[in-house]
Amino acid sequence: VLIIKHKDKLSPDYVPENLPHREEKIKELGFVFRDLLAGDAKDSERVVIVGRTGTGKTATVRLFGKNFEDIAEREYGVKVKYVHVNCYRHRTLYLISQEIANALKLPIPSRGLSAQEVFKMIHEYLDRRNIHLIVALDEFGHFLNTANTEEIYFLVRLYDEISAIIKRISYIFIVNESHSIYKLDRSIRDHIARRLIEFPPYKSMELYDILKYRVDEAFNDNAVDDEVLQFISNTYGYDKGGNGNARIAIETLSLAGEIAEKEGSPVVLLDHAKKANSTINPEIQEIVDSLSYLDLHQLILLKALIRVLNKSKADEVTMGTLEEEYISLAREFNEEPRRHTQVYEYLRKLKVIGIINTRQSGKGMRGRTTLVSLSLPLDKRLDDYIMQQIVVRL
Ligand code: ADP
Repeated sequence: VLIIKHKDKLSPDYVPENLPHREEKIKELGFVFRDLLAGDAKDSERVVIVGRTGTGKTATVRLFGKNFEDIAEREYGVKVKYVHVNCYRHRTLYLISQEIANALKLPIPSRGLSAQEVFKMIHEYLDRRNIHLIVALDEFGHFLNTANTEEIYFLVRLYDEISAIIKRISYIFIVNESHSIYKLDRSIRDHIARRLIEFPPYKSMELYDILKYRVDEAFNDNAVDDEVLQFISNTYGYDKGGNGNARIAIETLSLAGEIAEKEGSPVVLLDHAKKANSTINPEIQEIVDSLSYLDLHQLILLKALIRVLNKSKADEVTMGTLEEEYISLAREFNEEPRRHTQVYEYLRKLKVIGIINTRQSGKGMRGRTTLVSLSLPLDKRLDDYIMQQIVVRL
């Protein structure tokens, strides 16, 4: 029995037309950018969005951007263009400038322009067409970690001569709470934090409304028992001791639906939600979230580990075997394998995150060697997710 009508509406990338309990945040954003609607684009605006994972930062900003573009054009006859850039994928000023140019379909000469020059071209283009650009820099923490002070100043500071030439570009910086902006230079921080919109973790009642709305969009009528929604929202609601993460709540709902379908039930019941919940263990989820902060080669190493474990049907592998697999996998991705000492370093990092375990072999093996195992159950979803993370970094 098919009870999920629109599976795509349960995917983490889907942005619904309404975001329950984030309407106020959208209004606040509108307030920040209200002067743009006057059409004379005197100033560049900057605002910071802070919150934990799954608090709706990305979805809210995307929805705002799309709506604001429409309203500006339709009701004010002003041209506003919104561009969303993920700083994990584009973590240098240069890559960000390229990504903006791409989104505007602006051809950039292939000879080596600096990021600043690309920004200048973008600005000239916007000026000619009388367009104001709003750039959302998502996962901005990655940029802050990588960029040098000069590059950060370029984006963050309003009051110097550089910003005078980029007054047609406004920014929404999206940062995860853990990726603290408080590590920044004081002068930058004071400047950037002047306009800050916080996204608190969702309360149980809020998650309930979010789930209810998703159910109406994605499931057949009456296909989800109300107890399911109560159970999931009480499990993850921040006020009930949960993490307040809407992404995990929706994922649990989606998985409960799949389980119900598989079992041939016409309705998603509490029991399905409980089963789904035990699969989506929040601890595992935290580890999975941390994967998004890993580098390409750390992920390739992890993927290599899963591959050898699968092949050998064993729980542990020797460092030597793992390294061989890593080298061949890196080559498959057309990546130069990193050296032994570096690989060791990666292993240490993966261990700190809690995704792998290592121990020294005892007797019975020639010499002493390091044995590596996975600390999570080997499952297809984890494997797919790692692969997905690798692909975005290639
Ligand atoms: P963040 O960027 O803060 O990590 P996202 O915007 O990616 O969070 O949201 C995670 C998931 O939860 C997405 O699938 C998003 O559509 C959904 N979501 C978050 N907040 C809401 C909301 N208020 N209403 C409906 N769906 C939401």
